[in-house]
Order: sequence, then structure tokens, then C-alpha cells
Amino acid sequence: MKSETRVAVIGGGVVGASVLYHLTKAGWKDVLLIERAELTSGSTWHAAGGMHTVNGDPNVAKLQQYTIELYKEIEQLSGQSCGVHITGGLMLAGTRERLDWLKMAKARGRYLGMDLEIITVDEAARLFPLLDKKHFKGAMYDPIEGHVDPYGVTHAYAKSAQLGGAEIVRHTRVTDLKARSDGSWDVITDHGNVHAEYVVNAAGLWAREVGRMVGIELPILAMEHQYLITGDMPELKGKKEQLHCIDFEGELYLRQERGGMLLGTYEKAGVPWSPTETPWDFGQDLLANDLERIAPSLEVAFEHFPALGDAGIKKVVNGPFTFAPDGNPLVGPVKGLKNFWVACGVMAGFSQGGGVGLALSRWMIDGDPGADIWGMDVARYGDWTTLAYTNAKVRENYSRRFSIRFPNEELQAARPLRATPIYERLQAANAVFGDYCGLEHSLWFAPSAQSAKDEFSFHRSNDFPHIAAECAAVKNSVGLLEISNYGKFEVKGPGAADWLSQVMANRVPAVGRIALTPMLNDRGKLVGDFTMCRVAPEHFLLIGTYAAESYYLRWFERHPPDHRVSIRPCAMEYVGLSIAGPNSRALLQELVRDDLSTAAFPFLSFKRMEIGMVRGFVGRVSFTGELGFEIWVTTDYQRALYDLLVSAGRKYDLRPFGGRALNCMRVEKSFGTWTREYRPIYGPFEAGLGRFVDFKKEKFIGRAAAMEESRGGGALRLLTFKLQTMDADALGDEPIWHDGKVVGWVTSGAFGHRVNHSLALGYVPAAIAGATSGFEIEIIGERHHAQPLSEAAYDAKGSRMRT
Ligand SMILES: Cc1cc2nc3c(=O)[nH]c(=O)nc-3n(C[C@H](O)[C@H](O)[C@H](O)COP(=O)(O)OP(=O)(O)OC[C@H]3O[C@@H](n4cnc5c(N)ncnc54)[C@H](O)[C@@H]3O)c2cc1C
Repeated sequence: MKSETRVAVIGGGVVGASVLYHLTKAGWKDVLLIERAELTSGSTWHAAGGMHTVNGDPNVAKLQQYTIELYKEIEQLSGQSCGVHITGGLMLAGTRERLDWLKMAKARGRYLGMDLEIITVDEAARLFPLLDKKHFKGAMYDPIEGHVDPYGVTHAYAKSAQLGGAEIVRHTRVTDLKARSDGSWDVITDHGNVHAEYVVNAAGLWAREVGRMVGIELPILAMEHQYLITGDMPELKGKKEQLHCIDFEGELYLRQERGGMLLGTYEKAGVPWSPTETPWDFGQDLLANDLERIAPSLEVAFEHFPALGDAGIKKVVNGPFTFAPDGNPLVGPVKGLKNFWVACGVMAGFSQGGGVGLALSRWMIDGDPGADIWGMDVARYGDWTTLAYTNAKVRENYSRRFSIRFPNEELQAARPLRATPIYERLQAANAVFGDYCGLEHSLWFAPSAQSAKDEFSFHRSNDFPHIAAECAAVKNSVGLLEISNYGKFEVKGPGAADWLSQVMANRVPAVGRIALTPMLNDRGKLVGDFTMCRVAPEHFLLIGTYAAESYYLRWFERHPPDHRVSIRPCAMEYVGLSIAGPNSRALLQELVRDDLSTAAFPFLSFKRMEIGMVRGFVGRVSFTGELGFEIWVTTDYQRALYDLLVSAGRKYDLRPFGGRALNCMRVEKSFGTWTREYRPIYGPFEAGLGRFVDFKKEKFIGRAAAMEESRGGGALRLLTFKLQTMDADALGDEPIWHDGKVVGWVTSGAFGHRVNHSLALGYVPAAIAGATSGFEIEIIGERHHAQPLSEAAYDAKGSRMRT
């Protein structure tokens, strides 16, 4: 083994091998892969090798497409067969809801160029004669599904990487990692040490243990997974290879394996493997079979595919593989550690391994993953992911692998975990709670405790009239919303203003003022969206999306201020309440001595105030489009503040409202939000944030690229559409059609209760953004007329919030 390398990749499973290949392909030749045993010695060797393009996150789906297309390339380069069988695949729907879900998945696939097709049960039975038609309502056909040989794929990546200059050492275990002061790493192994500029943790089943070597607890857990192979079946003899098939109701997948069928299950009673520590002596071992655990799925399988019942079981495989709490990979550089990267938690290595390698190599070499990979970014998780939290969420995710997640369905595992001091107060007001980063927050308020629960649906549901009433209260008088679920950063010290001016695109506000600002990368794309509040000359409070806290901190680490400036994440130290509506000023004025008139405290003002006995920051901002105030207090004061507002609010019929009403109102105002309208694939002018980019400043990150975008206008445009729908609204990711062609995608949708029609926000090519007709948006398989609006649907001039 060499003693110096640019990159040390730990782990020779399908993911590590793909990372190694992609680094060499992108031109980094001085790279080394270190493998504890033989290549594939973790979960890779016993995988079923299935692959497919469909994923709930369209950006991850794109990388899955890339992975499947890559196999030809590495076969040709390496001369190693990947054993690719493209059979096509069927996803079977046993219920009406599942068929709706498939229609939505098909629609999402449209703008990714995926060739998915909804077919009848008869057509499904023609394609997959083993099924018993009476159990199904329809299916989706995907021509690009199939399976590969896990050994072949891993070795094809590895050989291709070696041909590109990479070195691979086997039977060498990394036992420790020590950071040097320059950010490089001493990689300690049982066969000597190597000094590496970068380390990539692709240690699969042991990624958690490798993380612990550098003091982090990665949110991953291995689950036992079983599949069985039947004896040879006469039904398959002399026939073309059977398609891949997913039967959601049975929670199982099927494919042909030689003369029999391979049948795997994601059973409800999934079992974690090595929940606290993965043994280092686990080799190419299998776990003991437990057919009883998967018996309920097998029963369904024998009913739905009767021929399986007579085929007998030739072999059972039970092996572990790892999952993150949401089932998507963990990829990217880790906040707080220099030059330490992860590519782990990859539960579908043969669909995702190529995409993970591509994104990681680009990110490491060019400083940018080259695609929107938020869905796989390790930074989407923060400090709330303890070992026990991960355990609960991964088990839930495994058990729901083939379950429908309705848009209004909140998952229940690991809850309630985090709550603010007014949680019981909100509960008493019949709040229906959602989980956001482990924190309980109110979604809507029901008229009684008994009715405080969601009826899951793709259509408008039981919350609809109550959200309407919440929006009406905000429009006509005043509403109260908890806003603790935002990320907050305190930036302080001499030079704080200069640093913010450099990192943010908008001008730094004067003391006592607020500026809304995008944060851009060098390519002029959005990497953040903040409310920047200036408390004192060198003291700021930044408010942004809480889920992106680690993502933002990682960015700040890459663009650090000088040592005099401190950046402190303080999300749960400050919690907040917002009041919005025409009576919000009168209400608050009763509680504060400061003058809240527009003359004294205009829109976008920010000031420390005493609200009764409570000391806090008051900002005059509005995400609802109405006159509004946000009040931030330290956690210990929140309950007193809540009681004060509720009591003073009685005479104004103050009504609590939740996140869903807020969403409806911000869509009516065409206000975007981070992870939906604002993502690193859009520029500020495309996203309608151009007015928040201050070119009067001579220097800020992304200035040159943003200037270019401002001249050309960018390739895309965010539009607001008025929709004609009956009982379902857009949710996000639906295709936007124009003149019979798919031209864009929806980022958010909601019913606008104040304007009394359905709305959607979405991106279309700039070239057609000026068209006034010809648009349609596809919702649950049906195309609806969509009228582009030239301005926000509600109070476009913004006079209500500035009044
Ligand atoms: C029964 C079963 C069926 C499956 N079916 C499918 C399927 O049909 N389709 C699909 O896409 N996926 C499937 N999977 C999942 C798939 O196996 C994983 O997605 C994939 O193997 C993950 O690869 P990896 O490289 O991340 O991890 P691993 O395969 O676990 O590789 C990690 C490697 O790192 C090495 N290593 C760890 N620590 C160290 C260290 N300290 N020093 C040196 N080396 C180290 C290990 O020896 C190992 O070789 C299945 C899994 C199982 C168990």
C-alpha cells in the first residue's frame, strides 16, 4: 500500500467501488480503496441485484436512471460482465389509492423523461402470467427495470477504476482515523498507515463504526432482509424471462432466478441487525432464516401468485443492509470535519450506486455535486438523530417500504420527541401535530379533541374546512401561529456585517431593520434563503429553514468569517410566535410600550421589546401576506408570551392557525420556500428573487454569475398558476404541460382559501413563460387547465402587509 494518496476510500462494496471509479473518471488518479476483506464483503455480495428508476424524490430518480445506464460503460471499459438483465418491471396496484399513487408516480416520471405506463389488469396478466387478476386493479409498467450481478457490477467498477489509475488494497482494515492540523488524514490500518488528503467513508455495514472513529454518530442502521428462491417452476419453462414485479399489498417483490422465482419481502415486523455495534468479524456470512417473520407476506404471495405455492423453497437468504431514517443515502462532506466525506446508507446500491459515485466525485472535485441532491445530502440530518431515534425511524421506514405515504400523512415513529413549552397548550386547542426534524409543530386545529386527526387522502380531506376558517381568521382579524420550527443563527462580533455582505446576496440591513436575502454559490445558484435581522451594528439574527441547519453551517465553514466573528446555531434557544391579520397590531400594541404604527415601526423593522413581562425580539414581517409580527423569545418565556397573546387576543377573536394554513397563504402570495421553490438548481432571477440581489455591492459570492443571469433572465421561470380542479390540489412534483408537451414541474400547490381557487407554483422554460394560455397541470392522472397569473393571486401589491 502506498503511504500518500489524495483520496482514501474506505470500503469495497458497490458504493466504494463506484466512488473510486467516478473519481478516476473525473481525472483524479491518485486514489486508493481500502477493503477489510474481499470486494463485496459487506451487504453487496448477497444482494438480489434488483434495479429500478422510480423514487419518491425526482432528483434521486434521475441518479437512479444514470446508474442503470452506466452499466454498459463499465462493462466495456473493464471487460467484466455486470450480468445485466433488463426485463422491464410491473408495479401492481391492489387498491384504488395505490392506482392513484402509481398515476402520480407516472406523472412525476414524465418530466424526467421516464417511459412509464399505466396498464389494465388484463395487460398486466399478459406481461406477468403468474398473477391472479382478481387481486389487482391495475399496474404501472416500467421498461427499464431488471437485475444485475452484484459481484460483476462491483468488480466492473473496481477494474475500470484501476484502469484509470486507482489502487485497491484488500485484506486491510482501517482501524482509526486521525486528523492533521491541515485538514488531511492519517488513515491507520492493520497493515500500515496512509496519509490522505480526503477520506470517503463508504464502509456500508460498518459506516457507523467508521464514523465513530472521527467522533460522529451517523444515522444509519442495518436491517435483516430475507428473500427466497423457489424450486424450478413448469410455468416458466421455455418462456421469456419474467418481469420484475412489486406487489405493494403483499409487501413483496418478485423476479425470475434461473428456473424459479426470487421473492423478497419488506415485512411489517422488520428486525434490526447489530443495533449498537457491527461486529468486525462478520464476513461473507448470512443470518439465520426466519420464515415465520415473513409468513404473512408469503401467504399473500401464494394467494396473489398461486403457482408459487406449489414451487417449493430451494434457498433462503437473510442478510443485513443499512438504511437512513428516510431510506435515502447519506452523501457528501460532513459538517465540522475537514475533508471527511460519506457515501453510505445506500439501501439500493444497484439503482443508486452510480449516481452516488457521480455526485460525490463532482462535489469533491468541482465543489458542487452538479445536481440537486438534497434528498441524499448527509446534511439533511441534524443533532436530533440519536441511536434510538434512528432505530425507531429505520424500523418504521423498513416496515413502510411498500406502503403508500399520503400527502397529509405524518409518520408516527419516534414521536413525540421534541416539543416547545406550549405543546400542551396547543394540544388543548386541538392541534393536529406534524413532525419536523423531530420537533412537534401544529398543522391545523380541529373543533374537538376527537376530530383532531387526519383522514389520509390524495384529495382534499377533513382538514379543509378548518384550514379555510383559519385563513379567514387571519384575513379578517388575527391568527396566532407557532414559528419555533425555523433555524436561527446568531452572528456576532467585529466584522460580522462585512462577512454577511460577502456571503449573502442582498445588502446588509441597517440596525433595527430586516432584509430578506438569498445566499448564492459561485455558479449564482440558490444555496440559502434567510431573513437577516440586525440587532446592533455587529449583532445579527439569521432565520432560515431548520432542516437545512447543518447544510448552512457546512457552507459557512467553507466560507468562514475571520476569528472575531462567531456564528452560533441557536434554533431551540429562541422559539417564536407569530400573529398575523389586520388586528395583529392593535393586539400587540396593548402589550408593548413601543409605538407599532407604520410610521414608527414600518414593514421589515426589528426591535428588542418588552411584551408584558416577556423580553423578546419583535420583527414586522409577513409570510401570510397580512399585517404581521414575529416575536422571538428564549424558550423559558414562550408559555407566558402565548398566554398573554391568547388572553389579549380574545376580544379580537384570535384564532390559532397551523402550518397548512400558512402554506395556503404563502402560495396565494407566490412566496417561495427553501427545498421547494428555492433549491441549488435555480438562480435568483429564475426564482423571482432578483429584487433581493444587490448589485450595488461590489463583492459577494455568486455576483458574477447572478449578473449574467440578470442580463439573460435565466433558463427557467417560476410561475403561479390558477387551477381548475374539483377536489384535489397540486402537491408538488406534478408535471406542467404546455400545448400537449411536458415543459416543467410544480414545486408547491394549495387551495387558496382567501381567493377561493386552487393554486400551484412551478418552473417552466423562460422561453414560454410569457404564454398566457395552453398550460395544464396533471393531478392524479388528470390534466387540469392552469392559468398563469402575471402577479400573486392575493394582494399582489402587498399593501395589506405594509399598511
Ligand atoms: C438480502 C439483501 C437483498 C438486497 N437486494 C438488493 C436489490 O435487489 N437491489 C439493490 O439495489 N440492493 C439490494 N440490497 C442492498 C445492497 O446490498 C446495498 O445497497 C449495497 O450492498 C450497499 O453497498 P455498500 O458498498 O454501501 O456497502 P457494503 O456492501 O456493506 O460494503 C462495505 C464494504 O466496506 C468494507 N469495510 C467496512 N469497514 C471497513 C474498514 N474499517 N476498513 C476497510 N474496509 C471496510 C466492508 O468489508 C465491505 O466490503 C440487498 C441487500 C440484502 C442484504
